[in-house]
Amino acid sequence: MTPNQPSTENADVIVLGGGGAGLAAAVSAAARGMRTVLLEKCPQLGGTTRWSVGSIAAAGTRLQKRAGIQDNIDHFRVDMMGFVPEFAARDNPKLRYVLAAEAATTVEWLEEMGVVFSGPFPEPPNRVPRMHNAVPGSRMYVLKLTQAARRAGVDIRLQAEVHELLTNADGRVIGVEYTLDGVRRRLEASRGVILATGDFAGSKALRETHLHQAAATAIPVNPDNTGDGLQLAQRIGAALHNMDVVIGPQFRFPSAQHQGFIDRLPSWTWLARLGALFFEHAPKWMLKPLVTSLLVAHMSPTEKLYTQGAVLVDLDGARLATDQGASALSAAREASGYIVLDAKIAAQFNAYPWYISTAPGIAFAYFSDYQKGRPDLVHAAPGVRPLAAKLGMDADKLATSLKDLQQGQVFALGPVRAMLTITEGGLAVDEQCRVLRDDGQPLDGLYAVGGIGQGGMALKGHGLHLAWAMTSGRIAGELISRRMPPVDPFEPGQVAV
Ligand SMILES: Cc1cc2nc3c(=O)[nH]c(=O)nc-3n(C[C@H](O)[C@H](O)[C@H](O)COP(=O)(O)OP(=O)(O)OC[C@H]3O[C@@H](n4cnc5c(N)ncnc54)[C@H](O)[C@@H]3O)c2cc1C
Repeated sequence: MTPNQPSTENADVIVLGGGGAGLAAAVSAAARGMRTVLLEKCPQLGGTTRWSVGSIAAAGTRLQKRAGIQDNIDHFRVDMMGFVPEFAARDNPKLRYVLAAEAATTVEWLEEMGVVFSGPFPEPPNRVPRMHNAVPGSRMYVLKLTQAARRAGVDIRLQAEVHELLTNADGRVIGVEYTLDGVRRRLEASRGVILATGDFAGSKALRETHLHQAAATAIPVNPDNTGDGLQLAQRIGAALHNMDVVIGPQFRFPSAQHQGFIDRLPSWTWLARLGALFFEHAPKWMLKPLVTSLLVAHMSPTEKLYTQGAVLVDLDGARLATDQGASALSAAREASGYIVLDAKIAAQFNAYPWYISTAPGIAFAYFSDYQKGRPDLVHAAPGVRPLAAKLGMDADKLATSLKDLQQGQVFALGPVRAMLTITEGGLAVDEQCRVLRDDGQPLDGLYAVGGIGQGGMALKGHGLHLAWAMTSGRIAGELISRRMPPVDPFEPGQVAV
């Protein structure tokens, strides 16, 4: 070894990325005896998984059965496509079959690790309730998977930045080169490398290359997911799939500066179990303050506000169109603005069905909930000009924008931002999560799971992304450990609608 050559270490499996998918893959591989190293570029684990609400959609779970719900894989598969009929022709039905067939096992696997779920909750077009929510939230996935990973002996290295996938003369992926503590290192893996680096919403360059303009200029929820894994894999011949597919941008309020009650709860499993029982059995009036604190902290304001007369303005007070969702806001300065309502509209949005935000089927947050729970987002003024002064807007512009609102007291909700939660495109993968080349053949030794490995599936609908992240991670960890020879792909069963 010369002084400039990095030192080499060996493992069986290398996982890049410590969000839900990467942690699941690492646990699954290490539990089968694989010497597993997980490399995460950030100082902490969790990725977008940590930002998520925490719902997983699944069919045939213990919780469904306990609630007397009969469900099956084919119904789940068909209902999932009901969220994205426009993408049907570009979908990956084989991968979707794997998701539908395996999600319930994943929920049980997570339960064995100590994750507690409440639900299932309904969300049309799902014909039966399928949404299972981690209690008290998504941080439990990160916590319980990390604990399981440590128990199974996974070597977790934070702030480890990978530069290159290493291949041998046959093109097989044999390891990675990365930097840790300023030192360039080489790590080889006898079984292979699992990419779990999430989506590419954090990369302006990739957004501009692949997405429509409103999505390209929107603010990513997680700026750290910069599509690194995609680029590493592309460099050695991996095929990309449906890179232009994106859901959003969406209107979103910034997260609260202070942690809500639910976020402050300790992550003890027994407390989560108690919480789940509480969710199931407590009367609605007792649940409301808890769930509302979650809703005002994390959710998107409904676009129904605009149909009822509320006006979206930019930071200067100019009126923005809302017929294309958050697209006009995305083009505005800082992709930010305010939703302005008069006293009549504010009063209207205090009772069902006129809520400001919702977790479908679980609860609703109204205007008064925002006044109480997020006073930082509610700006009241006795008229339009005082409101302009309060928000630093051009008074004439704002007056023109709000000419259709009632005179008197006005409220501005915001700032509201055009945000990109996640992107849907990624690497082409097969049902064993193996990364594919343009010719459809697997790149030996390389796997992709979670957001980077959706293989063409557009996963609109609550709970499908996490279901795929955890399921694909679990499966890839298992398959890489068995080093299975190629098998015939899953054949989806007959669709019983
Ligand atoms: C606000 C919000 C709410 C959501 N709520 C839900 C929900 O309730 N249910 C649901 O199903 N989905 C939800 N989603 C989507 C879901 O969170 C994601 O699809 C899912 O977490 C993706 O998991 P992942 O492991 O693939 O990626 P991530 O969790 O993002 O993990 C990727 C990890 O890879 C790391 N990484 C990136 N590049 C490198 C590199 N070069 N080297 C090493 N590490 C790297 C990142 O730092 C990160 O830790 C939500 C998303 C958002 C933004």
